[in-house]
Amino acid sequence: MRKNIVAGNWKMNCDLPTSQKLIWELKKALKPDYNCELMIAPSFPCIYPAFNSTLDTPIEVVAQNCSEQEKGAFTGEVSIDMLQSVGVKTVIIGHSERRDIYKEDDALLAAKTVAAINKGMRVIFCCGEHLEIRKAGDHFSTVGNQIEKALFNLTPAQMEQVVIAYEPVWAIGTGETASPAQAQEMHAHIRTMLKDHFGDMTAHHTSILYGGSVKPANAAELFANPDVDGGLVGGASLDAQSFLAIADAF
Ligand code: PEP
Repeated sequence: MRKNIVAGNWKMNCDLPTSQKLIWELKKALKPDYNCELMIAPSFPCIYPAFNSTLDTPIEVVAQNCSEQEKGAFTGEVSIDMLQSVGVKTVIIGHSERRDIYKEDDALLAAKTVAAINKGMRVIFCCGEHLEIRKAGDHFSTVGNQIEKALFNLTPAQMEQVVIAYEPVWAIGTGETASPAQAQEMHAHIRTMLKDHFGDMTAHHTSILYGGSVKPANAAELFANPDVDGGLVGGASLDAQSFLAIADAF
C-alpha cells in the first residue's frame, strides 16, 4: 500500500554515542502523530542499539546496504539474515554513493534487491542521473534503465515490497534541490513505467520518494506533488529538529 515515508540516511556519519544522542533528541522532539512513516538508517554497528532505543517509538531502523550473498566467505559484507537478526525489515539498495564509489552495477543491485525481497525485506531502491546526463536530456532514459534492470524481473507481488527513491545525483549533498516540477515530472515518469510494466495496482501502490538536499524549507513544496510520497534525506537527517520538521511537512 502506498505510504508517505521520510527516511534519514545517516551514511558514515554517526559513531555509537553520536547515533544514540541523535535518537535521544529525536525521541524528545517526536510529536504523537505524523502523516508519514519515519525511518532512520544508522551505520551497521549502531543498528542494534538504535533498534532497541526506538522500540517504543514509530521510528523504524533500516539498513544502508546489504550483501546479495546468503552467507560464507565474503569478508566485510553484511547479510540479509544478519540484518533481520537485529530487527531490520527494510534496506536501502542502489544509493548513488554505492553505485559511483563502490561500483555497484545494475546486475549486482538487481541481485541484492531480489535477495532482500525473497527474505521478506522491504527495499528502498535508489535511482537517479548525474548532471551531465540531465544536461544532455537523457535523464528519463537513464533512470528508466536503472529501474528496468533492477526491478522489471520482479512480480507485481514482489513489487509490493519495493519503495523507489529518485535521487538526482547532482542534488545529493550539494544544497541544490530539484525543483518541485522536476521532481514531479520524474516521479510521474517512473509511475507510468510501473503502470506499463506491472499494471495499475503496482503503479498506484508504490511509494516514490525524492532525495537530494531535502530541507525543512523545501520539503512541503516537494511533498505537495501528487507523485512525491516522501523523502530520502541525508544531511538534514543528522539534526533531529530538521528531520522532524521535514516529516512535519506532510
Ligand atoms: C542522500 O544521501 O540520500 C541524500 C539525499 O543526501 P542529502 O539530503 O544530503 O542531499
